[in-house]
Amino acid sequence: MRKHKRSHFTSLHFIIALPILLWSSSEPRNLTANEHALALKDVAFMTTDLKPGAAVAVRLINKNSPLTRLCYNKECYALTDKWQIIGTDNQTASRPTFLFEDKSNAWTTKKLNIEADLFAMNQKAIKLRLPASVINTLNEESEFIAQDTEKQKQLFRKISNIEWAKNWQAPLGHIHVVSDFASWRIPPNGVPYTHTGVDLRAAAGSQVHAVSDGVVVEANSEVIGGQVVTIDHGQGVTSRYLHLSEFKVKVGDHVKAGDVIALSGSTGRAEAPHLHWEMRIRGVPVDPLSTRQLMARLSGLE
Ligand SMILES: [Zn+2]
Repeated sequence: MRKHKRSHFTSLHFIIALPILLWSSSEPRNLTANEHALALKDVAFMTTDLKPGAAVAVRLINKNSPLTRLCYNKECYALTDKWQIIGTDNQTASRPTFLFEDKSNAWTTKKLNIEADLFAMNQKAIKLRLPASVINTLNEESEFIAQDTEKQKQLFRKISNIEWAKNWQAPLGHIHVVSDFASWRIPPNGVPYTHTGVDLRAAAGSQVHAVSDGVVVEANSEVIGGQVVTIDHGQGVTSRYLHLSEFKVKVGDHVKAGDVIALSGSTGRAEAPHLHWEMRIRGVPVDPLSTRQLMARLSGLE
């Protein structure tokens, strides 16, 4: 009787059933608690400092894992057994959440245990004391600032395939932080923003070193940053050096960790001579000190 019934399943049934099957399988679903636990066992995380703006490295440790993609802040990354590095937001008050997708389009989330009370929101804002000559040009230069921002966006959009070098060092021989990463700033126009790098004590004319191997993708002048050098270290990781007095490299130059790339200064919007050092991941500013440590650790492990 069963056999007889099955013979009634014609190709017409199949044509009707197939789109329904395809449609239902593309509906995303949450992984069950059990699946969630199993899926996250396939992923290794690494970070050196659980602060807002920390860089977090992620990779698959199980070759047969069903997980395919990781998404965070509207950016998605293919998951492989190679470390991916992701910059967490330093301006959000909630814990960063990574979204993991598997082959069947099901998904699961991982909330990072970054301490909410460490978020930059809670820090006291610093009023910038810029020279009068700089303040007077603020409004006149707003158009050029917008152009600089657009140029940076284009720069960070390119993700090169350069392999990360093993050597990651500080840009100055002596590290003395004078202003922390992600501290709040109030410029003379009154619109607060968070600090995108760390300010290091540096007498004018100090030698600035490349933090790792890479290619110079920017060596020019910006309104805020003054004379700026940007180095592409590969896979979305860049380092930037601001307020320089003299360039020692040009766009397209290949540099090695430790090479002198510039002399420090106080060009652009700077209160006094210092080195503003940034590390960015796909354009997202991350804490340079802990990111350098993380990159060094990742390089040592591979
Ligand atoms: Zn700075």
